[in-house]
Amino acid sequence: RFITFEGIDGSGKSTQARRLADTLRSRGDDIVLTREPGGAPGAEEIRRLLVEGDPDRWSPETEILLFTAARRDHLETTIAPALHRGATVISDRFADSTRVYQGAARGDLRDLVDRLHDMVISREPDLTLVIDMDPEIALNRGLARASGEDRFEDMGLDFQRRLRAGFLDLAREHGLRCRLIDGNRPADEVAADVLKAVDA
Ligand code: C5P
Repeated sequence: RFITFEGIDGSGKSTQARRLADTLRSRGDDIVLTREPGGAPGAEEIRRLLVEGDPDRWSPETEILLFTAARRDHLETTIAPALHRGATVISDRFADSTRVYQGAARGDLRDLVDRLHDMVISREPDLTLVIDMDPEIALNRGLARASGEDRFEDMGLDFQRRLRAGFLDLAREHGLRCRLIDGNRPADEVAADVLKAVDA
C-alpha cells in the first residue's frame, strides 16, 4: 500500500505520518516512512538545490522540473522497491504538493505539472490523507519553528490561504483516494481519524 500525507506547512502532517508509521509498525507491518522533496540520496541532493538559497533562484518551470526529477528518483530508489517487496510506504508529501504549490498557488502551471507527471511518474497513492488546517494557525506554527534556511519559509498568509484552497479543491478532484482530515484538533484525535481512514 502507498499512503501519502498532504497539507500546508504547519498542518501537522509530518507528525501524523510519523505516528501512523509507529502505530502500523507496532502491529508488525513492514513500513517505509519517507518524505518529499527528498526520500532518497539523490532526491535529497535535489531538495537542497530547491529549498536553499535565493528565493528567485529558479523560474517556476525549472522548479517544477526539479521537483519532478526528485520525485522520479524517490519513486525508483525508495518507493517502488518497497512496494514491490510488500511493504507499506508512507510519504510526507508526494505529487499532490506539486499540483497545489507549483501548479496552483505559485502560478497557473497545472498543465505542465500534470503532463510531466503523466510522462515520468504516473503512479498515484492508494490513499491520500489531506490534513486541513486553519492557515493562520499553521503559519504561526511554521514561523515558530522556522530555521531560516528554507527559502520557501514565510510566504505569508495569502499564500497559505491559496494553498489551503488548493488542497481542498484537490481532495474533491481526487475524491476516490483522498480523505480530508480536520487538523484543527488535538493530535490524538487527528491520529485516531487517520487510523480509521487507513483501516477502512
Ligand atoms: O514539507 P517540508 O517542510 O519538508 O517542505 C520543504 C519546503 O518546501 C517547505 O517550505 C514547503 O512549503 C516547500 N515545498 C514547495 N513545493 C512542494 C513541496 C514543498 O514549495 N511541492
